[in-house]
Amino acid sequence: MSQISRVGVVGAGTMGHGIAEVVAIAGFNVVLTDVNEDILRNALEKIRWSLEKLREKRQIKENPNTVLSRIKTTVSFGDFSDVDFIIEAAIERSDVKRKIFSELDRVVKKDAIFATNTSTIPISYLAEVTGRQEKFIGLHFMNPPVLMPLVEIIMGNKTAEETLKTTIDLAKKINKDYVVVKKDVPGFLINRINGRTFPEAVLLYDEGYSKEDIDAMSRFRLGMPMGFLELMDFTGIDVAYNAGLEAIKRGEGEPPHFKVLKKLVEEGRLGIKSGKGFYTYTSKTYERARVVPTDNMYYVNPLRIIAPAVNEAAWILRNDVSSAQDIEKGMVKGMNWPQGPLTFADKYGIDNVLKFLEERYEVTKNEYYKPDPLLTEMVSKGKLGVKSGEGFFKWNYEKANFGPVKYEKLHDYAKITMSRADKLNALNEAMWSGLTEAFKKAKDDSEIRAVVITGEGRAFCAGDDIEMMNYWGSVAGAMEWNEKFSSPLINLLLNYPKPVISAVNGLAFGGGMELNILFDIIVASDDAMFAIPEGLIGALPPLASSMGVGFISRKIARYALTGDWMSAKQAKELGLVDIVVPHDQLEIATVEIVEKAKKIAPLSSMAIKRAVNSIRNSYLQQLQSASQDLLILSATEDFKEGMRAFVERRQPKYKGK
Ligand code: NAD
Repeated sequence: MSQISRVGVVGAGTMGHGIAEVVAIAGFNVVLTDVNEDILRNALEKIRWSLEKLREKRQIKENPNTVLSRIKTTVSFGDFSDVDFIIEAAIERSDVKRKIFSELDRVVKKDAIFATNTSTIPISYLAEVTGRQEKFIGLHFMNPPVLMPLVEIIMGNKTAEETLKTTIDLAKKINKDYVVVKKDVPGFLINRINGRTFPEAVLLYDEGYSKEDIDAMSRFRLGMPMGFLELMDFTGIDVAYNAGLEAIKRGEGEPPHFKVLKKLVEEGRLGIKSGKGFYTYTSKTYERARVVPTDNMYYVNPLRIIAPAVNEAAWILRNDVSSAQDIEKGMVKGMNWPQGPLTFADKYGIDNVLKFLEERYEVTKNEYYKPDPLLTEMVSKGKLGVKSGEGFFKWNYEKANFGPVKYEKLHDYAKITMSRADKLNALNEAMWSGLTEAFKKAKDDSEIRAVVITGEGRAFCAGDDIEMMNYWGSVAGAMEWNEKFSSPLINLLLNYPKPVISAVNGLAFGGGMELNILFDIIVASDDAMFAIPEGLIGALPPLASSMGVGFISRKIARYALTGDWMSAKQAKELGLVDIVVPHDQLEIATVEIVEKAKKIAPLSSMAIKRAVNSIRNSYLQQLQSASQDLLILSATEDFKEGMRAFVERRQPKYKGK
């Protein structure tokens, strides 16, 4: 591997001066060039300002003057004759770059490596004009080079392994982490994936979703540091438009959002710099758009943005352009994503990603959405991600059945599924005991941070199973049922130390609605339906009419006293449901909530649960007295009449006895 001591930087603009600074900080001698002295003087001033800031923040030890003394500026390539490594960061025009490289090739010593910081031009197309294609490589810094921790290293068609090694070595010495892009594909790694996400955000906007909802979804569901539209306003809509123009010129086809970008640019909506982009700004300097969580963000499907990104990542992986680890690192360190696209896919479920792409392809007939064969293959092999123990990565997975209750350990959370779909998951003895066992198992597993509960089929849970009611012919029978089946689960949940997230997938009636009072975060499908109709059959909803009224809302009384049904939205207004989502997003929205719950420090989470449970328990006396009343009611004639009428599907005749 050749030893590098002198680095040449071509172009002293936004990127070039930052690159020169990073390289000089690392102790290398730098020769920096541009087309005139004014630009170079300006660049040195910016470098000095930045070095002083870094020194103030103690991020560099050396005196800024010492670092600056290592940077020589010149307007002549003649001063580049003895550099070991060149980083070209001139304007993004292939004619300009090719001219620079062919001139440099003549004057710079033969064993020096040439690297380009181009964002879009094929590395091999630039290498072609030199007699050193094996010593030519892409070294793509992120903006601003001083702050961004990652570089992309891109192999041209003829780049030698030795050149890659030397470049990796240089990246390490200048304190940058790196990803390797093994093939010279347009957009390399990061912009290839960006090229799938930003267009989707723009298309959603064009379809009538509000900018606020799109960006709220991006930030508060996907966990992105900025909304995609907010970020486009920041970087400039014209920049995206020009990149699209270049892609069209290169024959890569028209990006799907190109027409929208064109219109915005024609209207002068360039982003912060013109005072208006997707958002309106009062000044032309940096100003953050006001993005706050909205209810409607749950109606913008995050798969719109993530599924195309995953599709692209699958293409990159299948074509051996980059490794899975580098794809993840690229988006996390290069774009500040909370996790890489492959991890998103593993968590959301690769089956969900594939289904989404298939449907979108079907509707749009756009090749852009055609699922990559890797995704189809993975799903056919049962590699669905976290929920099957393996997707792009491996996850801890464990399965157990407790009667009609399915228990799954999904790496670091548990999923409990009530599985008596033919009986609308009604609570019979086995369901009560199974739930107790499953919740106990999740409680005792120290790796489990949160528990999800849901139902199989079209119902969440239809409440107590009438067939179980044979227990209830007498007070003694009802007492026995209470002690053996319902109390153990209720007591366990009343003191449960981990967050429980309920994914209400459909009908939640009676006990099926009431259990939600004991769960912490209720996500409901927008076609879920709730009711506590026990009074109609001569019984009462003990949890809802006591703890429910105190802990959730006084308005629960209405539903207990009338048997009225309520929609998911009404249940949300009542305070029983927290988040309403379209039915097809229930699973992924629940995954998002689990991810958030896992970010809470474990001890904080336990302490919060203790506090919340203590409020629930402050209604314990009322619950006990309502439960007592249920036992008494279960021995009345009216209760028996109610049961009979229910089974016989007729109106009951109550006597008040
Ligand atoms: P810029 O316009 O700020 O700077 C380009 C500089 O190149 C200018 O100072 C210009 O005078 C100089 N230049 C033009 N012709 C030259 C020549 N013949 N010899 C020497 N210098 C010459 O652009 P930038 O944003 O710094 O981008 C530079 C490169 O970095 C581009 O290839 C761009 O695609 C890439 N890049 C930019 C970013 C970004 O966010 N700005 C990020 C990654 C990569």
